[in-house]
Amino acid sequence: MKNDPKQIKAFLKEKQQQHLYRSPRISESAQSPHMQINGKNYLCFCSNDYLGLANHPDIVKAFKQAADKYGVGSGSAHLINGHSIEHQKLEEELADFTGRERALLFSTGYMANLGVINALMEKGDSVFADKLNHASLIDAALLSKATMKRYLHNDLTSLQRLYEKTAADTNTMIATDGIFSMDGDIAPVKQLSVIAKQQQAWLMVDDAHGFGALGKNGAGLLEQENMVQQDVPILMATLGKAFGTAGAFVAGSNDLIEYLIQSARTYVFTTAMPPAIASASRASLKIVQKESWRREKLQALIQYFKQGAGELGLQLIPSDTAIQPVLIGASDKALNISQKLNNAGILISAIRPPTVPEGSARLRITLSANHSEEEVDKLLQELQKIFKL
Ligand code: PMP
Repeated sequence: MKNDPKQIKAFLKEKQQQHLYRSPRISESAQSPHMQINGKNYLCFCSNDYLGLANHPDIVKAFKQAADKYGVGSGSAHLINGHSIEHQKLEEELADFTGRERALLFSTGYMANLGVINALMEKGDSVFADKLNHASLIDAALLSKATMKRYLHNDLTSLQRLYEKTAADTNTMIATDGIFSMDGDIAPVKQLSVIAKQQQAWLMVDDAHGFGALGKNGAGLLEQENMVQQDVPILMATLGKAFGTAGAFVAGSNDLIEYLIQSARTYVFTTAMPPAIASASRASLKIVQKESWRREKLQALIQYFKQGAGELGLQLIPSDTAIQPVLIGASDKALNISQKLNNAGILISAIRPPTVPEGSARLRITLSANHSEEEVDKLLQELQKIFKL
């Protein structure tokens, strides 16, 4: 893009004409199924606060108490003097919780993905990435200058074919979302682990949407699948979704974490997350472990919604997780439906390219343990009206 105001204006106009223009909405209340946004009350089905913890009183209290003690800013990077006892304890507790030797905090999931892939992969290496991986995994592979080879979504044959075309002595990594963020389906992590072992490749699973929500204790997809560190050497998960706070971590072997401390640029060259966020995340971890009823309720609501949608004949993208998308296709149509829902007081975003592939715009419905069956009924009624089912 040239430094030319006309080019910027033309770009903005084109985005509008393509129905791809995006603007943030302004929320004036805490995360909850009921929010005031742009001055209007909405019933929301678009948050990643899957367990309803973002405004939990114990977590808010831990945050406030830590802010009283440590202040707000961490002051510097972890390797200078920004690594507080709250960060340290959270890392130890997360390692314990996920059954890994060590864990390392990052300020966001995006940065964790960039940091890990860039530390481990370089020019001449190959990163095998699922076609529907999150943007942060894709950007991480691009930035690393390794060759990125994208296999068809959840397609092991496609992955094997790409391996057949790769020289046997190449350093490789297989990187995948655990639960795909815009589809809600789950990666075949068991089979991916078998292939990674055969190929002596790194396997990295981004469990942003499974961590907290899946597994008996809430430790995510890898707990649900009984997969230990040897099966998945690199686990990345975020704290801003089911955990209701902010930030992310990478968990793996002691050597891997020591290596990342020396080499992950998004760890080394950035300010540590505020200690109060670490403290709030520790409070959240306790609730995630203790209150399994939240996962049970979420599962029950997912089944309730799927059954209701099935009875109406609504076409959902197949998913057993809290992400329940309705495929629409054209971006203008998805926007129009989302607008109709907004008019009825329901907030659901139209997800459009480039977040999803061209021609696959969708309504991304997400459920939370804080929703009630009555609220899901209300959603289904409005969908029935709009889709004339
Ligand atoms: N990975 C996945 C699969 C995600 O959905 C997201 C967030 N949308 C991220 C990584 C990035 O995490 P964060 O929001 O903490 O940067």
